[in-house]
Amino acid sequence: MVARSSSGLRVLFWGGVGLAEGRVIAHVGEAIVLRTWPFLEADLLVSLFTREQGRVKGVARHGMRSRRRFGGALEPMTVVRATYAERPKQELMRMDAFEIVWSPMSGAVDWERMAALQLMAEVLEEALPELAVEDAVFRLAAAVLPEVRVGRVGLPAVYFCLWMSRLMGWMPELGHCVVCGLDLGGGPVWWSATADGVTCEDDRRGGSVALGAARVEEIRRVFRSGVGELAVEDWPAAAELLRFAVGLLERHLGRRMRCAAALWGVPPPPPTLGAKSSRQGS
Ligand SMILES: [Zn+2]
Repeated sequence: MVARSSSGLRVLFWGGVGLAEGRVIAHVGEAIVLRTWPFLEADLLVSLFTREQGRVKGVARHGMRSRRRFGGALEPMTVVRATYAERPKQELMRMDAFEIVWSPMSGAVDWERMAALQLMAEVLEEALPELAVEDAVFRLAAAVLPEVRVGRVGLPAVYFCLWMSRLMGWMPELGHCVVCGLDLGGGPVWWSATADGVTCEDDRRGGSVALGAARVEEIRRVFRSGVGELAVEDWPAAAELLRFAVGLLERHLGRRMRCAAALWGVPPPPPTLGAKSSRQGS
C-alpha cells in the first residue's frame, strides 16, 4: 500500500551522497502528524508533514504501545519535534521518537472541532506530494491549528481551506466572469464544483452556486488578515464559505473530503456553522 514503483529511485537520488554510501541519515525537526495506519503487528505507518522536507512516510516501530517514544503524539494534527531517519534503499523512513510541541488534545474537544482538524489533515495529506518542501503551507497550518477551538471552528476551517487553494495556485480570480470577462466587483459571483473560475449570472454553469457580494468580501478579508483576528468574530455564513473553499479543493484533488461533510452533514447542526442567521447579505 505504500510503494510506488518510481519511489525507490527518487529516494536514492534525493538522499544524495549519504544514501548512496549506504548510511542512515538522521533528522530532527518540527513536523505535523497527518495520519497513522496499523502496520505489521504493533508498528504504525505514519504520514508526517515536516518543515524541512515536506511530507514523508515512515514506520514507527511498536508505535501502538511505545508511550515513551510516541506517547500521545500520534493524534492527527499534533505538532511534534520529530526524530526520524532515512535508511539506505528503504522506501519508508524510520520514525524514532516524537516530542509533543502542541497537541489538539490539550484543549476542549467536541466532534465539530475534531472534524475540522481531520479535514485539515486530509487536505494536507492529499494536496502535498511527498518530499516537496512547503514552508508557507507549514506556517499556515501551524497558525490555524491553535485557532480551531470548540464553538469557533468555522472560520479557522474556512481560512485554512481558502489559503490552501491560494498557496496551491487553485484560487480563482473573483473579480471577473471567467466566460465573458464582466467585472464582478461589488456583486455576487457563481461557482461550480465541476468547472474552473467564477461567472456572472448569465454565464453560470449547470449546478452553479451563488456567492453573495458579502461572502466575496469575506473571502477577500481572509486573504488580507491574520486568522487570529478573524477567528474572534462571529461568522454566521462560515458554512457557505466552507462549501466554496472545500469545493475548490475537491475539484483540484479529484476526490471528496470525507471530514468536510461531517462539518455540515452530521446532526445536530453545528452551532457556529450557519445555524444562526446564515442568510446575511447577498
Ligand atoms: Zn459572464
